[in-house]
Order: sequence, then structure tokens, then C-alpha cells
Amino acid sequence: VQKNPAEPEFHQAVKEVLESLRVVVEANEEKFRKDALLERLVEPERQFKFRVPWVDDKGQVQVNTGYRVQFNSAIGPYKGGLRLHPSVNLGIIKFLGFEQIFKNSLTGLPIGGGKGGSDFDPKGKSDREVMAFCQSFMTELCKYIGADTDVPAGDIGTGAREIGYMFGQYKRIRGVYEGVLTGKGLSYGGSLARTEATGYGLLYLTKEILKLNGKDIKGMTAAVSGSGNVAIYAIQKAHQLGAKVVTCSDSTGWIYDPEGIDVALLKDIKEVRRARLTEYKKAKPGAEYHEGKGVWSVKVDLALPCATQNELQLEDAKQLVENGCIMVAEGANMPTTMEATEYLQEKGVIFAPGKAANAGGVATSALEMSQNSERLSWSFDEVDEKLQGIMASIANNISDAAKKYGFEGNYVVGANIAGFEKVVDAMNAQGIV
Ligand code: NDP
Repeated sequence: VQKNPAEPEFHQAVKEVLESLRVVVEANEEKFRKDALLERLVEPERQFKFRVPWVDDKGQVQVNTGYRVQFNSAIGPYKGGLRLHPSVNLGIIKFLGFEQIFKNSLTGLPIGGGKGGSDFDPKGKSDREVMAFCQSFMTELCKYIGADTDVPAGDIGTGAREIGYMFGQYKRIRGVYEGVLTGKGLSYGGSLARTEATGYGLLYLTKEILKLNGKDIKGMTAAVSGSGNVAIYAIQKAHQLGAKVVTCSDSTGWIYDPEGIDVALLKDIKEVRRARLTEYKKAKPGAEYHEGKGVWSVKVDLALPCATQNELQLEDAKQLVENGCIMVAEGANMPTTMEATEYLQEKGVIFAPGKAANAGGVATSALEMSQNSERLSWSFDEVDEKLQGIMASIANNISDAAKKYGFEGNYVVGANIAGFEKVVDAMNAQGIV
């Protein structure tokens, strides 16, 4: 805290991981201490912070701050998304980059951990303004990334449009056509099923973990928060697996639709019209629209937070338990506060942490990298099948790791240990670097 003040989200993420690793570290304390393994793990290999000037539609110059944190490359090139949101600061990027190390390790694929972004807000900006920002952002970022060094992707506020503008600028400056970004459009090297991957992966993992606990997702009711990339495809897959999602939300309000969220309508509002959720209520008068927060007050079996960090708090957790919720699976990164997580686990709610539950996105990004290297494109079914296999093996690995250290059913501990073991093994093998 003294070394990195004003980074509460980063401290929260580190604390949560280190608490879980206590048993592993205690078993090899001398080595960890002598080689300063944990100290090296929490210190990014490198971090960049840079000015992003751009001109708005009125001819006025705007200035944002850009970030890229290259956290750990022990098991592969840095990999992690770019967040564009006014709340972005170094502490948020570091928390996301730190989590990414373990998540990427859990996928079983050769990718290190990194994260980046800017405090730019794409909301309410014209396409030209978004392009001007993305070009300026990439003009600086392109010095630090590359297909074999660091491969950014989308995150909050960075979708297909933004990735396209950034890719164009990278190619223009560096003069190479390479898979330097993932989440690209299908016409220029993107992977089928990448758009759906995080939401689909979340449901594949949820289904597997329920199965490990002798339960079937079919017929369950679910609450989803958010209405962006992760939320939309989580809802779609939940419906395909026979569950019913009755809520979604954005930063101003939330929808309760007892008939189940209409995914086609939601996609039209959010992906095509880029409009607010009030439009959902206009199109489906049978649904309810409420201002503010509230999706966790609905009676459901499953809660799938898919918006942002710390959106599910202790009060929400109590409400979910009271309503008989049996499982929480995190589509977003760190959406549940530590107190809420502990409470849910104490009450016997199955809890799947984001670094395992939302790893389908980055796993499919790694598959996009493989396709780019081969200069081939795989079919939707081929990618989706691989994604299902990856999520099933993550479910088994985190369950086994928890069991091995005497924490059966604690998937938070299981995910942290399983992700950590591979990274630390690789760090050890590579010497003091
Ligand atoms: P999007 O920008 O597509 O959607 C984010 C959604 O969350 C929107 O509905 C947004 O509402 C809402 N939201 C964002 N910030 C806030 C906030 N501060 N308060 C309330 N609501 C908010 O992002 P994604 O769906 O891509 O990402 C969602 C989460 O999933 C993030 O935590 C991200 O890091 C994580 N994630 C994403 C992956 C991916 O592949 N996209 C992979 C792994 C994790 P509004 O539109 O009103 O802003």
C-alpha cells in the first residue's frame, strides 16, 4: 500500500490472490522468500503511461491518458484487453493485469498477462471522434506491442469498431500485417466465435461446475447484470442451455422481464442503436424498467454479474441468499467484493471467480492468435468446440486444485492455486528476471 498508494482495486486483487496462496507458499516458504517470488509477481515487468491528444468534432483538442501494463511474460507474450472508460486509472489497469496473469495461465494456452486502456469515454462520441482517439492512442501504443510480444484485445468500451481503427493505425505505422490485436473483424483476421466467447464460456463453466455439484442448469432462472458484450452472449447461451435469464442492466438502470430477456431486441438496442435500456421497455411493455441498481433483488437460482468491478456487494449477496440463489459465476472481472464473496461461500453458495469463469474470452483470443500465425480461419463449430473443452478443463482443474490443498468446493482458492502453479514454475525455470 505504501509503495503503490491510491490503487485500491489493485490491492484488493492482490490480497484476494495471496490469501488463497497461503497454503502453497507456507509449504515452500524458504524458497519463496529467498527468490522473492511473490515480490516479483506483484511488480509489473513494465508499465507505460502516455498522453493521447485528439481533436473533437468542434475542432477542440482533447487530452486523455493511455496505459499499458505488461505484467508477466513467464508463460507467453503479454495478453489482455484495453479498457476505455472514464473511471480508468493505473490502479484499475494493474488490478486487471494482475488477474489476467492467472486467468491466462488457467486457459492452458501460452499467454502472459497484461492490460491497458484509457480514461476516454466512447459514449456519445461520433465515429470520427472515436477514430481520432483510437489512432492517437495507437500511435504511441504501437511502439510497445507486436504479435510475439504483447497482443491487446477488447474490454469495456473497446469493441469491434475500436479494434478496427486501432488495427488500421498499427498497420499504417509499423507496416506489418500481423495478429497484433484480437477481437478483430472477420474480414481482417478475426476469429469466429470470439465475440460470443466470454459469455458462452461463462455458461459452459457454470454448467460444468453445477454438474460437479450434482445439479443441472436446465430449468434454472438467472439474473445477469450488464448489457454489453459479455452479458448479451451469456444470456443467449443460458437460454440455449435451457435456463431463463430475467434481468439485464446498464449504468443507468435495469430490466426485469419475467418472460426471459429477448436477446435479439437487446442486441439491436446495444450493438446497433447504441441506445439505453429504456428502449427495451418501449418495445416490450410486459417488462419492467427501474432506474439505478437492482438486478440482485430478483429471486433467481443463478447470479451472473457481467458489468464491472465491485458491482455485487454484501447487501446484494444477502438478498441473493435470502432468495435461494445457489450459484454466482463472475462474467465480469472482480464484480463481487471480498466481503460479498466470503459471505456467499459461508452460506454454501457455489462461487465461480472471474479468472476462471470469464477466461473463455482470452482463451478464444489465443485461438485467434493461432489462426493468424497459421494464416487460416477455423469454422465457428471448431472454435466453439475448443472453447467448450477449455472451459470444462478449467472447471476440473480448479476443482482438483482446491481438493488437493484441502479446500474442496472452494473454487476461488482452486483457481488462484491452479493459475499460480504454472506461472511460478515457469518463473523459477527462467531464473531471477
Ligand atoms: P461492454 O462495454 O461491452 O459492457 C459493459 C456493460 O457493463 C455495459 O452494459 C455497461 O453499461 C455496464 N457497465 C460498465 N461500467 C459500469 C459501471 N461503472 N457501473 C454500471 N454499469 C457499468 O464490456 P464487456 O461486456 O466487454 O465487459 C464487461 C466485464 O467483463 C468487464 O469487467 C470486463 O473486464 C469483463 N471481461 C470482458 C471480456 C470480453 O471478452 N469482452 C473478457 C473477460 C472479462 P453502459 O453501457 O451504460 O456503460
